[in-house]
Amino acid sequence: MTTRPDSQNQLDALRSEIERRNPAQPEFHQAVHEVLDTLAPVLAARPEYAEPGLVERLCEPERQVIFRVPWQDDQGRVHVNRGFRVEFNSALGPYKGGLRFHPSVNLGIVKFLGFEQVFKNALTGLGIGGGKGGSDFDPHGRSDAEVMRFCQSFMTELYRHIGEHTDVPAGDIGVGGREIGYLFGQYRRITNRWEAGVLTGKGLGWGGSAIRPEATGYGNVLFAEAMLRERGEDLEGQTAVVSGSGNVAIYTVEKLLALGANPLTCSDSSGYVVDDKGIDLDLLKQIKEVERGRISEYAERRGASARFVPGGRVWEVPADVALPSATQNELDENDAAALVRNGVKAVSEGANMPATPEAVHLFQRAGVAFGPGKAANAGGVAVSALEMAQNHARTAWSPARVEEELAGIMSHIHTTCHETAERYGAPGDYVTGANIAGFERVADAMLAQGVI
Ligand code: GLU
Repeated sequence: MTTRPDSQNQLDALRSEIERRNPAQPEFHQAVHEVLDTLAPVLAARPEYAEPGLVERLCEPERQVIFRVPWQDDQGRVHVNRGFRVEFNSALGPYKGGLRFHPSVNLGIVKFLGFEQVFKNALTGLGIGGGKGGSDFDPHGRSDAEVMRFCQSFMTELYRHIGEHTDVPAGDIGVGGREIGYLFGQYRRITNRWEAGVLTGKGLGWGGSAIRPEATGYGNVLFAEAMLRERGEDLEGQTAVVSGSGNVAIYTVEKLLALGANPLTCSDSSGYVVDDKGIDLDLLKQIKEVERGRISEYAERRGASARFVPGGRVWEVPADVALPSATQNELDENDAAALVRNGVKAVSEGANMPATPEAVHLFQRAGVAFGPGKAANAGGVAVSALEMAQNHARTAWSPARVEEELAGIMSHIHTTCHETAERYGAPGDYVTGANIAGFERVADAMLAQGVI
């Protein structure tokens, strides 16, 4: 399909304007560029989308909240962190997206995550808008009591902005079941409401959904398998490199093992472990989920098959499939070149925006199947939406039912991205497919609801 140059001009002008109005937010620029780079064909084919203001509105958050979070450590010293909630787009449902607690968090990071979330949530086909939040608080090395006091202080401001019909936060890096528990407790105390649907990722006994902790990793492996099936292959017997060792990485390893694949690696900020016999899931869970330890301990306790590579990157380990599951921009051009050299067949993003744009282009040029995070890792937020549905109905589904729904949603996302890419003349390009399919759904709702 030929692209009308005026849609490309419109997108280029918007891109410059966004850079000018949002200085010093490189991750936000990157996330916006990745989407705008793929929209020209759809704006050319459907003139209603080129209406002045539509794409501009989509790139501007509906609301951005920044607040002070003071808290006391165990020695009584006062710390001051910064809290964020970016409510990006609510055309399809209440704002939905996680909270990230990590020292790198700033407004630009939260905006990139919120922007991605809008498209990701649209792709699930469920009724959820997009938002994201967090803080530059570092939970690493903090006691439970410190984490609790921080979460209570954070919620003491956040509670006035959220609600089951308004904005529904969940976890992300640094925010898991423990943090969601403290946040929910403080929300309940302040509001005097037992409002289960205000947060997702809750404990199983008090409103949480089965399979929520597993969902992002499981979903990403299902997406990778769907891409391989398009090429007449599956995951059975394939080797895989996984980065990270948090929730997403752990359940990626679990699903890979269940499907007969061989996950070789895990990592954290200090380096990676490679295990020739395949990652031992029980040991990994014991170290990361129970003891909250470092990944180097895995190699110390596993024996001869495993070794720790300090400071290294998992992408240097030869494998059939790569599943980046740590954080943004963790896989650059050089890493991509190494993976391609070693014959990688599929790369599927468990984290948000882990591959740099140069890495993505390199994979695509080399004919590697590439699943962008907004499609491939949507299983987590999809099961969050199922948690909201269960909360609303005051019921709890069986793990088997949630898993079946998750598999159906991931298959729907894969098919939608695949078909959309074909429809717009980019067969096999899941980046274009995901961006355009997510865009169409949000844009249709925004057009129907008028200029707001
Ligand atoms: N933080 C996750 C994501 O990046 C999940 C968000 C949620 O469950 O709301 O999609």
